Amino acid sequence: MDYQALIEEVYKEVQNENPRGKVADYIPELAHVDGNQFGIALVDLEGNVFGVGDYQTPFSIQSVSKVHTLTMVFHVFKSKLWSRVNVEPSGNPFNSIAQLEYEKGIPRNPFINAGALVITDALCSKFDRPFHQISDFINELSGHQCVLMNPEVKQSEQNHAERNTALAYFLKAYKNFENKVEDVLDVYFSQCAIEMSCTDLAKSFSFLANDGYSIFANREIVSESHARRINALMLTCGFYDESGEFAFRVGLPGKSGVGGGIAAVMPHKFSIAVWCPELNEKGNSVKSIKALELLTDKLKFSLF
Ligand code: GLN
Repeated sequence: MDYQALIEEVYKEVQNENPRGKVADYIPELAHVDGNQFGIALVDLEGNVFGVGDYQTPFSIQSVSKVHTLTMVFHVFKSKLWSRVNVEPSGNPFNSIAQLEYEKGIPRNPFINAGALVITDALCSKFDRPFHQISDFINELSGHQCVLMNPEVKQSEQNHAERNTALAYFLKAYKNFENKVEDVLDVYFSQCAIEMSCTDLAKSFSFLANDGYSIFANREIVSESHARRINALMLTCGFYDESGEFAFRVGLPGKSGVGGGIAAVMPHKFSIAVWCPELNEKGNSVKSIKALELLTDKLKFSLF
């Protein structure tokens, strides 16, 4: 399979069609990003990187980091983790608080903000330098020191933290939050403000395409059974209330972020990261979804 030709073809078709969205502005610092940037990087299981467009430009990975933190915490807590967070799609926006009350403080899944805050809280309970260790982990997965945290993006989010703060206190009211709210939010905003290129992001997801073994870290990151479960969660919950549509159109486990990035995996074949900052109303990148849809159409395979 000529992956380079494939992603170039996809890139060209998306650029010709030029579907537009809107750059996230609820985090003001993200609103300054040039919405025309667009890149694709595909990494196969031998470690070959295929790239097109702005695939080497670092961007704000935002909620894609929720996969990295889930991986760390799942590895430590194993199945005990699921007493604190469920594994069901939410059908609601990523920052929704509605379900938390009638589900008694147990978030629907680890990829909506409420669930990710529980994960970061659990991480803070087990790791003494949580953000440092998140960065180390992602650097290891990518095979080199590539993680940068953008302090302006972090500050911008901290200045508009009402919703995430409300979610954290709500979790605390249900005793599903162990640490100080400000401490956990500080780590959470730092992880969201991580910047990486499509290449490094795709590398950091490679272990999920490879039964839990990272060829960049040269070690098993999680067991094959944990890798399968993380992929199942990405497939069912990775795109908030658009998860069904992503499975329908693309058919790969993936995770999006409001920076416009999507990382996805085709188990036993490759990992891929696509980035274009303009989003649809669900907070997912318009061009990135389109690119992945074309990719699996042209490949004639997905998970299905
Ligand atoms: N930092 C963002 C938030 O907490 C992440 C959301 C996202 O990427 N979907 O609102």
